[in-house]
Amino acid sequence: MEKEEGASSTHVLVLPFPAQGHMNPLFQFSNRLVSKGLKVTLATTIFIAKTMKSHPGSLIVDPISDGFDDGGWAVAEDMNIYKERFEAVGSRTLAELVEKYSHDCPVKCLIYDSHIPWALDVAKKLGIVGASFFTQSCAVDLIYYNVSRGLLSTPVQGPTVTIPGLPLLEVNDLPSFVYYALGSYATHLSSVLSQFSNFEKADWLLVNTFDKLEDEVVQWMSKKWRIKTIGPTVPSMYLDKRMEGNTDYGINLFHLDTDPFVKWLNTKETSSVVYVSFGSLAELGEEQMEELAWGLKNSNSYFLWVVRASEETKLPSKFVEETSEKGMVVTWCPQLEVLAHRAVGCFMTHCGWNSTLEALSLGVPMVAMPQWTDQTTNGKFVVDIWEVGLRARVDEKGIVRREDIELCIKEVMEGDKGKEIKRNVKKWKELAKEAVDEGGSSDKNIEDFIAGLVCD
Ligand code: UDP
Repeated sequence: MEKEEGASSTHVLVLPFPAQGHMNPLFQFSNRLVSKGLKVTLATTIFIAKTMKSHPGSLIVDPISDGFDDGGWAVAEDMNIYKERFEAVGSRTLAELVEKYSHDCPVKCLIYDSHIPWALDVAKKLGIVGASFFTQSCAVDLIYYNVSRGLLSTPVQGPTVTIPGLPLLEVNDLPSFVYYALGSYATHLSSVLSQFSNFEKADWLLVNTFDKLEDEVVQWMSKKWRIKTIGPTVPSMYLDKRMEGNTDYGINLFHLDTDPFVKWLNTKETSSVVYVSFGSLAELGEEQMEELAWGLKNSNSYFLWVVRASEETKLPSKFVEETSEKGMVVTWCPQLEVLAHRAVGCFMTHCGWNSTLEALSLGVPMVAMPQWTDQTTNGKFVVDIWEVGLRARVDEKGIVRREDIELCIKEVMEGDKGKEIKRNVKKWKELAKEAVDEGGSSDKNIEDFIAGLVCD
């Protein structure tokens, strides 16, 4: 990778929203900028800095306060209250952080999570470049944009929705906050819509996706806004070859389980293990957890299942003991390392955007079990647009039953449809690598972004 001349004196401050699914892509993107010669400082919140269980690499981490130094957003009454306080306290502490560097190494650009839109006001006030970083797909961004401008009103009238730039969507394919904009979801919706309050004033709009993956929507959005696709942020070492024993790719807000699961994976045949994870936030009901557990067992495949410590009590009693021959349950794992392992042949996923991109970039077929937020839309693309997975069917009670889980796993692992899915995902893996390799679409966009900063 070419290092830009003058880049080393260009200092960029990166501000992620303090949640796992936001920290990883912004951390990975920061490392990519470092590899291209920029000086990068990651501004986390004080609570996150204290919570970070691992912090690989040489990146500087310098915290700011969000007003919730002892608990982060989890202790706020709701997301809007958290965001209000974060804005009030964070605007001041972020400006102080930029000022702190003003003599020795002035900050030239602030890359801020699109969920922190007020950061752009801070950047403008201080006269530095402001780049908004979108951690969700272009499709999801465009849907939220349409809602924010009243072009799509909630509750959405079904059964289908036409949005320019997107394929025909069923109402249930929309992000859950959009198709069910009631109660706490209405609060979440207003929170995600705030991304679009001032985004047109940002100097750059960076999106963690790649051109070929979201071809139509990227082209449509590019006609309106200065968007730059820079993803997938998955580090290239993983894309180049299947790596083992390297966890230097992300920030963990959870304790990495010490179970010897990599050793366990090493003993398994190629593509024989189902990896199961629902990310950092989704909570399954007890009934769903039970169905999932027996569905996994009945599939007769080996499985590695991430059940966060807060969810463990929902596991059926004796499940772990009874399935120890076939499976392993861990509380958190280095996901990219697991997905990159040759033994993993299927990912049963909630379709968080990072998990989706990671599976796709590493060529792992999926069983989609979206739960909420943007996962429903990502699931639609996984199954019907990219054709890299099957969707487990939800019954009238909103539960995916064990029979369907078993069926989907068997089909993806051994069935004819599974063969087709494997061929497709292999193609997407190659295209993802092409996008981030030197001269690829995302790499060129990153180079343009850096060149713009350096010349500025
Ligand atoms: N992740 C991980 N270990 C786990 C589960 C998840 O490292 O055991 C990482 C995963 O690789 C991804 C992030 O956590 O980068 C989850 O982000 P995603 O957008 O998929 O879901 P969210 O947690 O935001 O719902």
